[in-house]
Amino acid sequence: MVSSPNRRIYHTHSCERTRGPPNLVKVRPVVFAGARKSSIVVKLRYFVDEIQEITLDLIYRYDPLAPSKWQPPTDADEALQLLHDGHRRFVDFVGNMQQRSQVGGADEPLIMHLDPASLGLPLWHAGSTIQMPFALVLGCSDARVPVERVFDQAFNNLFVVRIAGNVLGTECLGSFDYAVRRLAGSLKLVVVLGHTTCGAVTAAVDMYLDPRDYEQIACTHGMRSLVDRIMISVRAAAKSLERAYGAEIKQHPNYRTALIEAAVYLNSAITAFDLRRELELMKTETARVVFGVYDLETFDVRGIPEADRAQSDSAKSLSLVPAPDSADDFTRLAAAIAKALCKRYLQKPPA
Ligand SMILES: [Zn+2]
Repeated sequence: MVSSPNRRIYHTHSCERTRGPPNLVKVRPVVFAGARKSSIVVKLRYFVDEIQEITLDLIYRYDPLAPSKWQPPTDADEALQLLHDGHRRFVDFVGNMQQRSQVGGADEPLIMHLDPASLGLPLWHAGSTIQMPFALVLGCSDARVPVERVFDQAFNNLFVVRIAGNVLGTECLGSFDYAVRRLAGSLKLVVVLGHTTCGAVTAAVDMYLDPRDYEQIACTHGMRSLVDRIMISVRAAAKSLERAYGAEIKQHPNYRTALIEAAVYLNSAITAFDLRRELELMKTETARVVFGVYDLETFDVRGIPEADRAQSDSAKSLSLVPAPDSADDFTRLAAAIAKALCKRYLQKPPA
């Protein structure tokens, strides 16, 4: 949604209310442009009840002549801070929208100030920009998890590889190999990003719980490849939950839910572990690998889940965790994840 300095572009999104609190879903964008200057206006029209319709204006405002505030990170810590700041903006934006929908204030425009250079786009109509991402992200293909939006990053900031279940296949490794060799000057950090209610992980869990369904997937090479890669995480998740809760855990009505979520976290951790090993073999300086899971309910990104979502610290909405570096490290991590999820879903703290 970027216009040239002397144009204004309107994006009108019509959103239908669904059951429960008003939510910005089912967006059908309609785009048209005018000939004014300096702002982009996004109109969000949605219904707060059966008869009332509200339009909220989002204004992206920038000054093309203002000095740029963008400073590329010089190390992994600064890169992490940029992701943290961006995620904070994203969470604040979602919260602001939801509050205006539910409490009121939707008649006031929401103004977002942009630094033109930080958009990562050429300011002049000549040539193309040089690729200079500061972070490499392996995420899931799930449509609900657009990586640049979750971290509120501009074009050219992230080198993103997305594949269902964020597993590490040969083609993914090829992309990473290219990135760390050709973009080593700007890359400072590698992130593996999973997400809750992941369909690929859920398929693997269901296969684990009822192997009779394997025939459905056995004849589909692509699906079988995905599920097989994730199955190691499912087994590790089942083992850690059983250690934390006891052998009777399989009888608990929330067992499947807890197992899916534990497997999501461990799948991201294992992928990060593998990726770290691969990067070490490539002898690259971009060796800092972290991982996290995007929670579709809270919008937080965490390496270890909160036991109680309602008590989660919003100031720490992004807490990426270093990739485990040994089997013992992985076991400790699995135990911490199992402990939190037992408390959340099974309501019995482990011994
Ligand atoms: Zn997924």
